[in-house]
Amino acid sequence: MRLEGKNALITGAAQGIGKAVALGMAKEGAHVAIADVNIDSAQQTSKAVSALGVKSIALKLDVSNQENVINAFKEFTGQFGALDILINNAGITRDGILLRMKEEDWDAVLNINLKGSFLCSKEAIKIMGKQRFGKIISISSVVAFMGNPGQANYSSSKAGLIGLTKTIAKEYASRGIRANAVAPGFIQTAMTDVLNDEVKDEMKKAIPLGQFGTPDDVTNAVIFLASKEADYITGQVIHVNGGMYM
Ligand code: NAP
Repeated sequence: MRLEGKNALITGAAQGIGKAVALGMAKEGAHVAIADVNIDSAQQTSKAVSALGVKSIALKLDVSNQENVINAFKEFTGQFGALDILINNAGITRDGILLRMKEEDWDAVLNINLKGSFLCSKEAIKIMGKQRFGKIISISSVVAFMGNPGQANYSSSKAGLIGLTKTIAKEYASRGIRANAVAPGFIQTAMTDVLNDEVKDEMKKAIPLGQFGTPDDVTNAVIFLASKEADYITGQVIHVNGGMYM
């Protein structure tokens, strides 16, 4: 039980990687809030988490809306007290080559993926600073490091998360707060299911380990960073990509 009694809030945790992280952290003894725009789905995930014997609540949260974020963190502390771990996981894609990319597609992706993590980190740091302890783990992406045709907005947002992570790590280390990122490669979830088989085959060829990752592969890295074993690690990125980028 590497996270026994720790309180965690995970954004975008109703499904996919966030859900796997929530279940994985609960198996390690953490109490977990499932924060997502999709409250019905978040409630189902929260039930599955509670069934593992830990405390769990579902929070309706749009990470890009400051008022929403402030209220969700208030509700969280009202119910859980301390906040030990924040996972900035909520993310979307709105793909298209740059010349065809609409301003609204740029804004939507940057607002949720990057500004959302800024807003949530800010509320988390207010709580963690007083506690003199906390871990913030943000889910970036391999495309932050490689770029990706059709994803100017997404890759920029994920690269921005690395700057945000390193800055938080430097600004709040003195208050016992660690900030790190996990950069997954191609992980099988609803986000990647929409890609056609031809694109998937091409991507597989670029992965030395020859297979896509699973949400559990990402979960293992997140749990490590959240655990005591990683207490001397801050401002770092763990790449979980089958060797796609090294
Ligand atoms: P997913 O299956 O689409 O799950 C994302 C979750 O975030 C969904 O439940 C979604 O709700 C929720 N969400 C969307 N907008 C939100 C908002 N404004 N506020 C709160 N929640 C919101 O995606 P995933 O594949 O698990 O990805 C999780 C994270 O990993 C993302 O940050 C993604 O960029 C990153 N990542 C994924 C991969 C991959 O290959 N899958 C690779 C690298 C990085 P709705 O479904 O209702 O919109």
